[in-house]
Amino acid sequence: MPSASESQDARVAENEATFRRANEALFRRFQELGTADLAPFLCECGDHRCTQTIRLNLEEYEEVREQRGRFVIVPGHEILEVERVVEAGERYDVVESRAEPADPLFS
Ligand SMILES: [Zn+2]
Repeated sequence: MPSASESQDARVAENEATFRRANEALFRRFQELGTADLAPFLCECGDHRCTQTIRLNLEEYEEVREQRGRFVIVPGHEILEVERVVEAGERYDVVESRAEPADPLFS
């Protein structure tokens, strides 16, 4: 039986993966549109109730998504038990997640 912290890790990873999938779709759409300005993305934090958005340009988003386990979040939305802030900005923070996704599709 998984410990409490292991299941929290899995839950956080699952939420992050869900937000990431939504953002991937947004990213492709913005690329198609040739969006050059800041574009709205969903906060990719581990809280499934979070509905906040952050604004990044496509280069900034691409830089984060290229690195496995990194997510963009609203500053302050990090969950320190499972992730650490690797980049803190005015518009968004980048966190690195230690949580492993429960779903093997995303591992
Ligand atoms: Zn959030």
